[in-house]
Amino acid sequence: MEELLTKTKEELAGLLPDLPAFRVGQIFEWLQRGADFSEMSDLPKALRERLSAGFVAQGCRIEQKFTAGDGTAKYLLALRDGNLIECVFMPHGYGNTLCLSTQVGCRMGCRFCASGQNGLVRNMTAAELLSQVAVVNRDNGGDARRRALSNLVLMGCGEPLDNYDEVTAFLRAVSDPEGLNISLRSISLSTCGLVPNMLRLADEGLPVVLAVSLHAADDKKRKVIMPVANRYPVEEIVDAARTFFRKTGRRVIFEYAMIRDFNISDGDAERLKELLRGFPAHLNLIPLNPVEESAFASPGRAECERFLKKLHELGLSATVRRSTGREVQGSCGQLRRRYEAGRADRGGEA
Ligand code: SF4
Repeated sequence: MEELLTKTKEELAGLLPDLPAFRVGQIFEWLQRGADFSEMSDLPKALRERLSAGFVAQGCRIEQKFTAGDGTAKYLLALRDGNLIECVFMPHGYGNTLCLSTQVGCRMGCRFCASGQNGLVRNMTAAELLSQVAVVNRDNGGDARRRALSNLVLMGCGEPLDNYDEVTAFLRAVSDPEGLNISLRSISLSTCGLVPNMLRLADEGLPVVLAVSLHAADDKKRKVIMPVANRYPVEEIVDAARTFFRKTGRRVIFEYAMIRDFNISDGDAERLKELLRGFPAHLNLIPLNPVEESAFASPGRAECERFLKKLHELGLSATVRRSTGREVQGSCGQLRRRYEAGRADRGGEA
């Protein structure tokens, strides 16, 4: 069945040509609010039934929610085919942020990440991506006009640039001034370094912040933790990031998971300095979020501070970000994997 959530008002009118403009406007508004057809209380019952029989309103619904003391909430969302995805709501003084998933699973296979351990199940559609935003916005008291979300980060499960067409369609839909109207400048898109699609994105006219998952400054170390390093050398990835910055004028952030006894020596800091020479980029250092299935360990606070100090001495812009979500079932992919393991133990019920 056709998904309606990413349709513009004009596209909706084209699909429902017998409806007057005000009815189309009502349906559009309800969809953006995260509602299903059965909840569209100002539509005639017969129209609600007709819509339910032919179209999909929301691509996901909340299966479970885990809330931490600081207000961070991790959502387990069920897609219509029974697949589960995760997203994380993070309240901040300057506005609330939602970290979205872009695929069910991931085929990039990063060794420190739970999402990639069972490979890719499937890409999410643009409408499913937008539904994540709509249902979490609604759950936090927002609607299409008074949003409870001001920032989005595409850093949950999946590699956004491995699902390029759906992700770019989502970015256009979520920033539609008639819809949720979230500014593209308030959206960060993370990639592990898919060079051809980084270059495509630079020409797309979508001024998002690009966040590149670097995690090591040389190919030898990157290959240990990120299979994508076998396809794209780190120099090419940084060159593509420079092109993105030159063409869009938008900031580039390099994400760097600090891993004990692996990538936080003085030599690592010096290689970073060489790699990023002349690039006004920022390094976001994150102590590794421990994943049960991984052999890698998180460094202590003193080790993190020492590495940060060394980077600053070398003139690099860097900050340490405490990883959110440990209280709410750990890093991306862990919640879904635990829940699905429990579902299997319970005999496979939803
Ligand atoms: S870190 Fe990101 S790109 Fe790598 S396996 Fe996990 S979800 Fe995929």
